[in-house]
This record gives sequence, C-alpha cells and structure tokens, in this order.
Amino acid sequence: MILDKLKEECGVIGIYSDDEKITSQNIYYGLNAIQHRGQESAGILMNKNCSIKYYKEMGLVQDIFKEKILKDLCGKIGIGHVRYSTTGESLINNAQPLSIDYKDKTLGLAHNGNLINTKEIRDELEKEGCLFKTTIDSELIGILINKYTKDNIVEGIRRTMEKIKGAYALVITCEDKLIGVRDPHGLRPLVLGKNENGYILGSESCALNVLGADIVRNINPGEIVIIKGNEIESYNFTDEKSALCSFEFVYFARPDSEIDNQSVYMSRLNAGKILARECSVEADLVVDVPDSGRIAAMGYSQESNIPFAEGLIKNRYVGRTFIEPTQERRDMKVQLKLNPLKKIIEGKRIILVDDSIVRGTTMKNIVALLKKSGAREVHIRISSPSVKHSCFFGIDTPDESRLIGANNSVDNIRKIIGADSLAYLSIDGLKEACGDSNLNLCTACFNGNYPMEIGN
Ligand code: AMP
Repeated sequence: MILDKLKEECGVIGIYSDDEKITSQNIYYGLNAIQHRGQESAGILMNKNCSIKYYKEMGLVQDIFKEKILKDLCGKIGIGHVRYSTTGESLINNAQPLSIDYKDKTLGLAHNGNLINTKEIRDELEKEGCLFKTTIDSELIGILINKYTKDNIVEGIRRTMEKIKGAYALVITCEDKLIGVRDPHGLRPLVLGKNENGYILGSESCALNVLGADIVRNINPGEIVIIKGNEIESYNFTDEKSALCSFEFVYFARPDSEIDNQSVYMSRLNAGKILARECSVEADLVVDVPDSGRIAAMGYSQESNIPFAEGLIKNRYVGRTFIEPTQERRDMKVQLKLNPLKKIIEGKRIILVDDSIVRGTTMKNIVALLKKSGAREVHIRISSPSVKHSCFFGIDTPDESRLIGANNSVDNIRKIIGADSLAYLSIDGLKEACGDSNLNLCTACFNGNYPMEIGN
C-alpha cells in the first residue's frame, strides 16, 4: 500500500527507575500517552543488568502489551517506541526499539525523526561488510554509535552526530545507562522529567504527566544526556540555529503537551485568534473540524465574537481516513467519520476551521457535507499556512505533486473544495502563535526554507 499523505511521526520514551518491576509498566503508560504519534507498531526494550530483552508488534499499544508480557519485561532501564513508518516499509522487522549488535557491543535504541543522508551512510557501512536487519535509517545510527564507541559512549555518539544529517530525538540504553540525544537543530522534541522512581525521557510532556513526573527541562538541540541512577551528565555539541518543527504545534503534538516550554494548546488558541484578525469574514457560526480544528476554532470565535458551535460530530471508532489506499474509499471515509448536525447548520453562514489542508480531500468532503445539510455559506479558515513543500525530517511528504497547496493558487483550492471563501494563517502569524521569538521554528513545509541542505 502506498501512503501518499503526510504521515505521522514516531514517539519515544525512556525510563531509568529504581524499581525494576514497574519500569515496563510505566513505559506502557507513557507509550499510551503518545499513541497519537504513531499507530502502526509499538515496542518496549528493557535493559536488565546489561542484558537486553524486548517485545514489539504491529498495532496499538494497548492491544500489544498484555499484563504477562509486561511482567516478563523486567529491568531498571527501558525504552519504548510508537511508530508510523516515515522511512522503510511497514513491517514488524522495522518496528522499534532496535537492539543493535556490533562486534562485542549491544545497544537498544528508539528514534523519532528522519535522516537525510541515509544512502551515503548505508553504502559506506555496506562496503565495510555490515549486514542490516532492517530497512530503516535508525539502525544506521545504532551501528555507527557502536562502531565509534571505543571506551567512551559520549565520544561514539558525538562522532555519529558529526556523520548523520537530519532529524533525530533518540533514547538509547547501553551498559548501565539511559541516554537521550537531540539533533543539532532540535527538529524533534525531547523532554526530561523526574518522578519518585527516577528519570524519564519522552517525546512529549504528556507522557511525563501520566507518570506523575515533573518536567526537569527540555533536552537542548545538539545535547547528549547520560542518566545513571540519580546522576545526570550533559554534553553539548552544536552551534547550529535551532529549528523545532512547527507542525508539532499545528497538528502532531497533543494539546496538553508543552514543547520547549511552549504550550501546544495555547499556540493553537493563539493561531485561531490571529487567524480571525488576519482574515475576518461575516458569518453566523464558527464550526470546528473535530478534533484537529477545535482549539483554533475556539480562538477564532473568541477573537471575532462569532459564536462557536459543534456542527460536525465525529465517530471516534472509525480509523483514520488517511490510511485508505484509494481516493474513493478516502472520500467515503470522511462521511463515515463526520456527521453534520443539520439543526445547527441549516441556513447558517459558517466559518469552518481546521488545522491544515494537505491533499484537500478532507475539506472537499466536509464542505459538500455541510452544503448538503443546508449551510448557506461555508468559509474555510486554516490555522496554518498552506503546505507547499515536502518535509524530509519525519513528517514525510515525499511527493509535492500531491500537495494541493504546491500546485494551486488559494482561489483555485477554494474552487476545488467548493468553499465560498478560503484563507490560511500567515507564516508570521503561525510564528507569533507559537512564541517563535523563543523557539525559532522550522517552517520548511510552508515556505521551503529548510534548516539544512537537502541532498540525496
Ligand atoms: P487532506 O485531506 O489530505 O487535506 O488532510 C487534511 C486533514 O488531515 C486535516 O484535517 C488535518 O488535521 C489532518 N492531518 C494533517 N497532518 C496530518 C498527518 N501528518 N497525518 C494525518 N493527518 C493529518
């Protein structure tokens, strides 16, 4: 099956706990909290006195991990991963965490992000006689770390960071350590927390919250943190400008997370308010696309004083529409997923708010549903700029020809989706909404300004 839409990224978690019986269970809870970052496969890898054991499967966290499996996964140090394939095929073999052997060394690794010089590294390692167990870039990172680690893992990771290009938030376990690493641009998030049992690393702060952990701090771009019991060492290797992915705020991250100290919820609310200021229109109701547009729609309503109303009800038990292979089935699935509330919509001028338009399929179908239910006018407001460029750092839009924003003017898009008007948030508006003066966001999918040169 070819997946040609923006794809979900991955989520990682790592725990160093003083109680080896609860570590895997806590990783399980943490993975549940970041399930939205990937629903294809999940895994937990434990390090018990330097011996590694793992369990991974295709599917959702709560379907995979039964009590018995978690009980068998014992150890003070563990890492976990949820995946939606952005590189490599959707196979169990490519599920993470990975256990990577090289000569006499073994390490466990979980990776969120995408490398952009994979081919070059793979060719080089192949020439040296390396055999790969997977088709994913993450394995290369582990092999390089093992290869470059003589006596000192920090040195091994530093040399690996010099070699690899792209986005990576890593949690690693080897010997008696839990390690967190963030790429020099900090494209993908990674946060450190602490609860009564020890330290936790996670993609999002919501994973720390479920474990009753306080946020200690965010891992800095280019930083390696080594956790050993209660001791933490930190090493910094970057003079790059940070470039946190703005799409984390637009769509990926959970609204109750804070990324690099910025609340995702507030950034979405602000985006809605700014959108109302930038592109106002006369209307009777502000309606959200549930759930992706809800917070921005509330912001829009607050700022414009046009009442917010639920005009579409979502069936939570229908899978996500973007995994459908054919256009016809995708079209049908929007209808299965969202049911318009005729009583609310009929005869009204509606401002419909969503977070993004990618292919345009969702919006086209929703506008048709609303019009069929008697909406007088449908004005689309999108709380991010138009997606025009591929992302190479883990969101994965491989083919620009499929991005409606890359190939059409705004008015053309409006015509295609059948709306009465269409407007997007400006790039400056998005930056302002996310507090960019502190963060310096990557906005490459909107304006093509990549934080590094894109090679092969
Ligand atoms: P499309 O139909 O291709 O235009 O998809 C737009 C819809 O997909 C919006 O409702 C977004 O909330 C949602 N969306 C945005 N990014 C992603 C993503 N990476 N994966 C899945 N859905 C997404």
